[in-house]
Amino acid sequence: MRITVLGNSGPYPRAGGACSGYLFENENTKILIDCGNGTLGRLQQIIKSLEDLDMIIISHLHSDHIADAMVLRYAIGINKTKGIITKVIPLYAPAEPKEDFDKLQFQNAFLMNEIYEDLIIPLNGLTIHFKRMEHPVPSYGIAIEKDGKKFVYSADTKYCDQIFQLAQDADLLLCESGVLERDRIIDMVHLSAKEAAEIGKISKVKRLMLTHFWPGYSLDEILQEAKENFDGDLILSEEMKTYEI
Ligand SMILES: [Zn+2]
Ligand SMILES: [Zn+2]
Repeated sequence: MRITVLGNSGPYPRAGGACSGYLFENENTKILIDCGNGTLGRLQQIIKSLEDLDMIIISHLHSDHIADAMVLRYAIGINKTKGIITKVIPLYAPAEPKEDFDKLQFQNAFLMNEIYEDLIIPLNGLTIHFKRMEHPVPSYGIAIEKDGKKFVYSADTKYCDQIFQLAQDADLLLCESGVLERDRIIDMVHLSAKEAAEIGKISKVKRLMLTHFWPGYSLDEILQEAKENFDGDLILSEEMKTYEI
């Protein structure tokens, strides 16, 4: 299994950057996880055709996770109308807010599915499951497992029990750290670097990769705050870099 970081800023991109988007791959299976602004152009630098996608999973319906889905729907919908794309690509997303969920669809571009707490999706030998996080809109953490290996993506969340449950013993935890402790009072809806580190430590993850960086922060500062609370394998996600799980 491997994951390529298409964008790692939030909730708006740093100069030259992109917001949340990740390409998960296992053998020939390709899953796009989140589709924030700036990620669709980068995705096409990696895959030959959008038809190569087997599934699209949107963790939650905030703009920094769906902005490019608004144009991905055109790309796939119009190419379907032209007969260039014939494949049915399932898209999974939380059903709320309903107007945002409905907007994801265009000319039957996707096979639309709702994410819910106990949903388990088997896909080409992979098992994909979800846990509801705590965020202003319904947000689902995602785990993908195969042959004893486990990848977990926190989605956007504040500190909550569910992320510990989902992250337990993960080989790679891709965890948001959208805030620093010093700004905790301003931002109550994201994890701090310290909290992400604590989750990694208590959940005994083998590797912790931080992501969803506020453009105003220096990456060194984020890394430093996390390192003080986690002495294992800890890295910051880098855009357009691929990580083996
Ligand atoms: Zn976000
Ligand atoms: Zn969010």
